[in-house]
Amino acid sequence: MPSPDFSLQPMNKPEAVTKHFDQYDTDALLYITNRPPLVFTEGHGMWLTDHNGKRYLDWLQGWAVNCLGHSPQCIQDALAAQAKKVINPSPAFFNEPSAKLATLLAQNSCFDRVFFANSGAEANEGAIKLARKWGKLNRNAAGENRHEIITFEHSFHGRTLATMSASGKAGWDTMFAPQVPGFPKAQLNDLASVEALIGEHTVAVMLEPVQGEGGVIPASTEFMQGLRALTEKHGILLIVDEVQAGMGRTGKLFAYQLSGIEPDIMTLGKGIGGGVPLSALMCKRECAVFEPGDQGGTYNGNPLMTAVGIAVLEALLAPGFLQSVVDKGHYLRDGLLKLCDQHGLEGERGEGLLRALKLGQPIGGKIVEIARDLEPQGLLLNSPRPELLRFMPALNVTTDEIDLMLELLSGVISEVK
Ligand SMILES: *Cc1c(COP(=O)(O)O)cnc(C)c1O
Repeated sequence: MPSPDFSLQPMNKPEAVTKHFDQYDTDALLYITNRPPLVFTEGHGMWLTDHNGKRYLDWLQGWAVNCLGHSPQCIQDALAAQAKKVINPSPAFFNEPSAKLATLLAQNSCFDRVFFANSGAEANEGAIKLARKWGKLNRNAAGENRHEIITFEHSFHGRTLATMSASGKAGWDTMFAPQVPGFPKAQLNDLASVEALIGEHTVAVMLEPVQGEGGVIPASTEFMQGLRALTEKHGILLIVDEVQAGMGRTGKLFAYQLSGIEPDIMTLGKGIGGGVPLSALMCKRECAVFEPGDQGGTYNGNPLMTAVGIAVLEALLAPGFLQSVVDKGHYLRDGLLKLCDQHGLEGERGEGLLRALKLGQPIGGKIVEIARDLEPQGLLLNSPRPELLRFMPALNVTTDEIDLMLELLSGVISEVK
């Protein structure tokens, strides 16, 4: 099949930024977001190539998904090898890759049991269901089910109805009302705000160890340790959503390990599949309370995706890999601090290779656009808030690629300010 010609023919519909391509009508895709008039046709490592052959240094990596960069050899090999063996015998039967990946995850974490799903939101839905089931088996003094899960302002847990309710994003409580009840919101790094919300129906506290979409805000070690002590004191569960911060992103395999605590439940997504749809719900033996019929899903633990998960996890566990994430996190931090000095910016924060630059002005959107349109090579950046840039490169990014990003970004900032 000849490769399609994506020559752009702008349509007279600027408000939606939709385009017709020669053979395909992009309006056939349901309109959900404004996309730039680009089609990416290839990706290797930290680089993406568009339909005109222009290259972009990609600091989005599918939103912290491609932890080993675009199309790494180990994922190509795992997909090809598994596709030849068996793709999906159905979740009603055991398969080798899912059992192996579950074993590896349990061996390298404080958890004993794993349920595989397809997206972060789905893993979090599973965590919410598991906590509510546990709260049904462990009732309060009045003999009632416990079901409330305390979550946090500015948190992000996904786009299903329950995970939107769990999220602390402004406006999300009314967007698709009525919302799922039972998610009171506390303030991150404020233990008293959590304690004030604990009542007789509380079953768990759920948080991102580093708030990602909220602007890369780490929970402090004292806060994580305080939460563990508080939840133990009240006999409730501690759930960490590591969909963004897990899988080596912070320099530890899991972000909860930064504070030396052991949560009861953890969810993984994004990096665990290195770019393919795979997520996981993990829990301790004591709260593995699902019974047949409680949880499932057509694709759960399918061998094609879990084979990729094995390849990714083995790469992260290779000797020296996580230390290299720590080292490059420091290198990136130092470079961002230099930019702050040079351009009078507010500062930077983050853990490992999940970092943010505080611009001090609402110029993030402008920077993203100018960086993307740079010639001859573009730079793809993310601005989750107008005054902030977020950095989530492949975990095997090189120091040369960090230097190039900093150099290009410095030029863009000079132009915008
Ligand atoms: C991205 C994200 C999710 C949602 O994951 P999806 O795969 O998009 O459903 C949930 N929690 C956190 C912390 C995330 O960053």
